Amino acid sequence: MKSLDAFAKKKLAALSVKGLKRNILDTDRTKDGGVLRKGRKLISFCCNDYLNFNHHPKIKRAAIKAIEQYGTGAGASRLITGNHPLISQLEQRLARLKGSEDACIFTAGYMANIGIIPALANEQDIIFIDELSHACLRAGGEMSGAHMMFFHHNDMTHLQALMDQYRPKYQKALILTDGVFSMDGDIAPLGRLSCLAKKYDCWLMSDDAHGLGVVGGGKGSRHIFDPLPDIALQMGTLSKAMGSFGGYLCASKPVIDLIKTRARSLIYTTALPPASAAAALAALDIIESDPDYCRRPMDNALFFTKALGLPDAQSPIVPIIVGDTAQTMAYAAALEEDGFLVTGIRPPTVAEGTGRLRFTFSARHSQKQIHALVASLKRHNILKTGNIA
Ligand SMILES: *Cc1c(COP(=O)(O)O)cnc(C)c1O
Repeated sequence: MKSLDAFAKKKLAALSVKGLKRNILDTDRTKDGGVLRKGRKLISFCCNDYLNFNHHPKIKRAAIKAIEQYGTGAGASRLITGNHPLISQLEQRLARLKGSEDACIFTAGYMANIGIIPALANEQDIIFIDELSHACLRAGGEMSGAHMMFFHHNDMTHLQALMDQYRPKYQKALILTDGVFSMDGDIAPLGRLSCLAKKYDCWLMSDDAHGLGVVGGGKGSRHIFDPLPDIALQMGTLSKAMGSFGGYLCASKPVIDLIKTRARSLIYTTALPPASAAAALAALDIIESDPDYCRRPMDNALFFTKALGLPDAQSPIVPIIVGDTAQTMAYAAALEEDGFLVTGIRPPTVAEGTGRLRFTFSARHSQKQIHALVASLKRHNILKTGNIA
């Protein structure tokens, strides 16, 4: 269709002017935790494979064994062909790790959020959501039709003021937040959120995509807090520290039964392939048995923030806010010239004027590599220009 191509070209041209056209480059992730791009070997500081499980021999073997035994695909939705026993096992293991009664596996974290939230809320309800929450929490909220109220990032005074004003006008209420914020690396005040949730009869849902495996002794952001906060809906992904693929929700048995009956992104999509479930199970074995290994990404992030004189990292994610989009992308290119892959993050992933370099640290980064990265940042005067997050 000519009009369709014309539309696409015009839209892309407008985005290009603002530096917002995206190019996805072929990039090979090598066995030693590096990457190959345009024939050059780079050290990656932008991957979410925090524990380097992507190439872990035990995890790969588990996935290969599952393929040989069960094949490559799942065949259909779980509601049609039934649960794969590996998926049931994985649900039990995740529920145990997270201290919940039951769990439900989805085919991605994104699919989890757009399934869970519309199954629990509708037009009569209200959703209080941290303004820096991940795009798929927001998408799930929007799809539910509930009234969305954004509270200032991690600002409990603002949240409480909104709840005082709006909670009584609606039937059910949810509070949505990242556990570890994906673009900022800070932690939600889950203890205070759970108290507010109780007081105002709201259901607290945390998205711990960046927490599982790397904070709270590997159990995620809830386990940073003492006493353990009550979080009715603990959601996350198997695709980051777990090195596999898929999403999950841990909750009470009635909630999980309802989700399995009503979440459209579970019912109307094909189940997770057996190999992904097997890989996640093998990853859980390591996470549960080796909390010291799980600390390594965090220790590396702290080594980095200390070397630069930044506030201590709270998670393996450390942003340096640059502001301007073009400048952000220029810095990312300069670092790539020096042999480091650090992606520039720009709108709409982050707010206008808050373009940033987002560094993520993994278990296998060496202090020598981090030193070299710090030297490169200093050489390009990157810290001098931005206001640091
Ligand atoms: C990556 C991410 C997701 C999506 O998870 P996938 O399994 O990759 O779909 C959800 N929430 C947050 C906070 C994330 O960072």
